[in-house]
Amino acid sequence: MTTENAFFSLQKTCPVCGRSFSVTRTRSSSIRAKERQADFRVIFEGVNPLYYQVYVCPACNYAALDNSFDNLTGNMVTIRRSLLDAQQQEPDFQGCRTAEVALRSFQLALRTAQICGYSQSVQGALSLRAAWIARELGDHDTDRMYTEQALHYYEQAFENDRSTKSNTVTITYLIGELHRQVGHYNDAIRWFSRAVTNPSVKQEPEIERLARQQWELTRQQAKAGTEDEALAPLSASSILPVVAQVQDPTNEKTVHPAPNVVKTKKHSGPKIRFTVTLYEDEVDWLKKVSTVPYKEAKEFMDKETVLRALLDAALEVFPDVQGFTNEDELREQFIQRMKDGKKPGN
Ligand SMILES: [Zn+2]
Repeated sequence: MTTENAFFSLQKTCPVCGRSFSVTRTRSSSIRAKERQADFRVIFEGVNPLYYQVYVCPACNYAALDNSFDNLTGNMVTIRRSLLDAQQQEPDFQGCRTAEVALRSFQLALRTAQICGYSQSVQGALSLRAAWIARELGDHDTDRMYTEQALHYYEQAFENDRSTKSNTVTITYLIGELHRQVGHYNDAIRWFSRAVTNPSVKQEPEIERLARQQWELTRQQAKAGTEDEALAPLSASSILPVVAQVQDPTNEKTVHPAPNVVKTKKHSGPKIRFTVTLYEDEVDWLKKVSTVPYKEAKEFMDKETVLRALLDAALEVFPDVQGFTNEDELREQFIQRMKDGKKPGN
């Protein structure tokens, strides 16, 4: 089957703003699963259906998984306002999606899930999928950030969420596996042990086998003192059903207030898309800073926002910069001014 035949489109109406738009779907006949990994990530040959799992409204950027797109819950006025506040220029989500565009669609779905107050298990599942796409992109930091986020949500869901009780063994195992991936070996072993000693594990022999296998792997890794860089692919014979299904958010009754968007800086013009080429260490720093709000208050921030805040600060502190002829001189000026808040030489 050619790639072209692998897709078809579907007309959808946005439940937030009423805009009608077409979404790209993948034909199930064109999907070839090659292997399933220990965290239930499926590797596909050719078209990756995960890329098309999130529908994004091109007008208001409301984004949700295909199976829950129409079932929006929450205060519509608040949702509309929060989406509008967060709006920025987005890529075109129609037609073929690249991994980058797919990752963005999951980020938007996570934002919608936060605005609508969806359950932690839904946010965990979305975060885990974002981690998989980042892994595909070879973006280790983003992968780790979303893996840690998924872990956090699944642990919270395990403690609080009644809807996960039906697949406790699977969730217990998955929490163990995510701990292993981020190098928390003692926690991983504790959760694997919890999974295999759960009486209902006998009804899930595949999970039991996986838990024992990954437990052993964790022991070896702990002994070697190495941190897992990427998931060890499982053999093709270990094909599993994708058990970490996303819960239907329609069951959720709790609606949290939308996050407060504090606007401290007013800009005169609209946002303009501007592509920049940076060095790896610069991007690493932006990534590092962007994870701080999550560590402190479970709030998301992207690298672009960090860069924008930095530029805003520069605009405020030194609106007019003069007296330089190259990058090094300019950098030196910035350093001087950051240090003493004055022009160098003053
Ligand atoms: Zn919309």
